[in-house]
Amino acid sequence: MTAKILVLPGDGIGPEIIAEAEKVLQALITDHELKLQIDHGAIGGHGVDVSGKPLPEETLEKARASDAVLLGAVGGPKWETIERSLRPERGLLAIRSGLGLYANLRPAIVHSALADASTLRPEIVAGLDIMIVRELTGGIYFGEPRGMRRTSDNLREGFNTLVYNEAEIRRIAGMAFEVARKRSGKICSVDKANVLEATELWREVVTEVAADYPDVSLQHMYVDNAAMQLVRDPKQFDVIVTTNMFGDILSDLASMLTGSIGMLPSASLNQTGQGLYEPIHGSAPDIAGQNKANPLATILSVAMMLRYSLNEISHANRIEAAVKKVLANGLRTPDICRSGDQAISTTDMGNAIVAAL
Ligand code: NAD
Repeated sequence: MTAKILVLPGDGIGPEIIAEAEKVLQALITDHELKLQIDHGAIGGHGVDVSGKPLPEETLEKARASDAVLLGAVGGPKWETIERSLRPERGLLAIRSGLGLYANLRPAIVHSALADASTLRPEIVAGLDIMIVRELTGGIYFGEPRGMRRTSDNLREGFNTLVYNEAEIRRIAGMAFEVARKRSGKICSVDKANVLEATELWREVVTEVAADYPDVSLQHMYVDNAAMQLVRDPKQFDVIVTTNMFGDILSDLASMLTGSIGMLPSASLNQTGQGLYEPIHGSAPDIAGQNKANPLATILSVAMMLRYSLNEISHANRIEAAVKKVLANGLRTPDICRSGDQAISTTDMGNAIVAAL
């Protein structure tokens, strides 16, 4: 069966980086027998401009009918002062909840050719390849009750609730173990089970799920230690699975180990394996329209889409190998250039990847 994907370029550099990702998909379709039907839609500021909404209904309908969605980025100064509910970023939240995307997968990969872009010493990060699996729709960001109130002695008080039920934990743990199976078979579950009951349950349920995956080895770690270990010796990790808030913090920490925001893809998946794939960076209005943006995070998001939603593993491998080769040949967009390097444009980078496929 031919898979269906929806492409949402969005705003700022979104259309530029998406154009290069589509070139790569087209090359796989024409030269390597990938079967794929591609449709397009509006989101973010572009959605507001064409339909008055950051997530037009038509876009959500098309997304629901697709196997996967590929997104550029949303947002920009043009829409910063409009009513809050219409801001471009709301479109992103709406599509995530509209598709029920509960698992966020964020790799942090340091291509050996770029090891000196990190703020850590090259020998600590060269060859780093971690996958953080973050629970995305539960935990303290969504728990009730929440709010602001006055205490009996009239002090202002803010409060939130950290709550997870066993079904939510089982679901994200299952996803993480499946991911670990496709990688090195090693997983570290991060919690604060010594202090927080919600994550004491997290540890219990993850351990139960592990019984179904005898081929995957499980380790537990407290979040404070995990933060320290990620900076001390990040290569000890392969897959990390954790709660919404811990994952939010640790995935940003891990992405900065790589030193290059323009290189990192991400995936958000739902229970049926349908996913939204996007670079972790934003719409970079400061360089939009200048043919300077690094399209590799988006091209690597295509590889994740092929691997996790379309089960086209060999095509995913082909893209990742092409990226490695192009970097090893010294080709760099300005964001990953060292002084003295000659930078290439967004389109030249896309063309180089297509040639290397
Ligand atoms: P940003 O990620 O857009 O940019 C931060 C810095 O990184 C900028 O200097 C930018 O030029 C650079 N950069 C980002 N991506 C790059 C790439 N591919 N190649 C080269 N350089 C790149 O973050 P920001 O400046 O905080 O936000 C800009 C807009 O993007 C805002 O409207 C924000 O709300 C939005 N945003 C959207 C998303 C998303 O769509 N998922 C994520 C974050 C921010």
